[in-house]
Amino acid sequence: MKFLEELSLKNKLYFLFILITTAFITVSIITTINISNMKKKLDSLYFGSLVPVTELNKILQIYSNDLTSTVYKVKSSQINKFQATNSIDNSLKDIDAIWYKYEHHFKRDYELEYVEYVSTEIKDMNKYIKTIHNNYNKIPLNNISLEELKKKIFNINSVIQKLLHYEIEMARYERIHFLNIYDNLLFTIIIGLSFIISTVLFISYSIFNTIHKNQTDLEDTSEKLTQANKDLERASYTDSLTNLYNRRYFNNIYSIELKRAKRDNSFITFMMLDIDYFKQYNDTYGHLQGDEALKIVANTLKETLHRPSDFVFRLGGEEFGIILTKTDEFNSAKIALNICNAIKSKKIEHKNSKVNNFLTISIGVVCCNARNLYDDKILLTLADDMLYEAKDNGRDKYVITSNIKQA
Ligand code: GH3
Ligand code: MG
Ligand code: MG
Repeated sequence: MKFLEELSLKNKLYFLFILITTAFITVSIITTINISNMKKKLDSLYFGSLVPVTELNKILQIYSNDLTSTVYKVKSSQINKFQATNSIDNSLKDIDAIWYKYEHHFKRDYELEYVEYVSTEIKDMNKYIKTIHNNYNKIPLNNISLEELKKKIFNINSVIQKLLHYEIEMARYERIHFLNIYDNLLFTIIIGLSFIISTVLFISYSIFNTIHKNQTDLEDTSEKLTQANKDLERASYTDSLTNLYNRRYFNNIYSIELKRAKRDNSFITFMMLDIDYFKQYNDTYGHLQGDEALKIVANTLKETLHRPSDFVFRLGGEEFGIILTKTDEFNSAKIALNICNAIKSKKIEHKNSKVNNFLTISIGVVCCNARNLYDDKILLTLADDMLYEAKDNGRDKYVITSNIKQA
């Protein structure tokens, strides 16, 4: 079923539709053909066997009952000459008409000879009766020998009986033949329908399987795509060296947090951090070692800040930024001091630093009520100024201000 897998979903559904329609049409055609076959067989059973039997029976009845009783009634003067003539005429007409019909049914070649013989016998018999009838004046009916008539009727009866038995045997044979055909048809229909139904079921199952597989593949791909999008989004705001948020994300968060703090009428703190004598560090220990030191500083900053609303960014080079919300000047100063101490406590050797044997950091801090900010950029400028001041005042320290008017 490889070709099914290669079809598009739309074509698979078309294929399924065509398959089911074809199956329905085939089943309808098979059923119609078989029903019309059965009808033909029933017809031939009815007209070929049942009708001839009743016709022959009717002729026998006319000879044995009607004609015989008429003659008997005349002889016993129960009816007059006129009534007898009428009755005999009618009976003979009936026999002729019924025999004409019987003779004109379909006959097999080997049957024709006997049918012709019976026809001659009937004609002779009828002639005999007509002769008696026409010579009525000479030989009155009541003078007819009943014995002779009985003999004649017995003779014609046995001739017709033979034909009747043959027809009954034929009817029996036709019935068995019909039942055999019926059984065969039933068998063919059951096999045919089972084949069609199982084929349709098998192909439909395969189609549904491939559709299901497509659906699962699609879901997998969509999941991978969502994950890839998330990774991409994450990468777009993450610094690859330190795994901190990058400058682009800082720009977003900075304006969002500023707006939020203004709305809440709460404190906002921005810190600008810069590693001391980092050029010398690179010169002394090499650029790779410098990268390692940047990672340690980044991790230390993350470790020091615990609240989910605290953000740490790498703004570029060996410069970092921190945004704190709802933190007053006193606590902001405490956190800045903690950061300075935490970096020092990592004991990253820096023998060419002019302030310490280990790597140190300087921080410029601005903390104020967000509603007092008349320009969003003030925090950045002031933090930068404070950082310069910290550097000028000997590095390895923080300088904090809340006086935004000095900017
Ligand atoms: P100061 O105490 O005044 O800040 O002096 P400094 O040497 O730290 O400042 P300066 O701006 O003169 O030098 C910054 C150095 O940081 C220069 C550059 O080699 C280094 N640097 C910037 N980005 C990276 C980086 O991604 N990896 C490494 N290893 N070094 C970097
Ligand atoms: Mg710098
Ligand atoms: Mg520096």
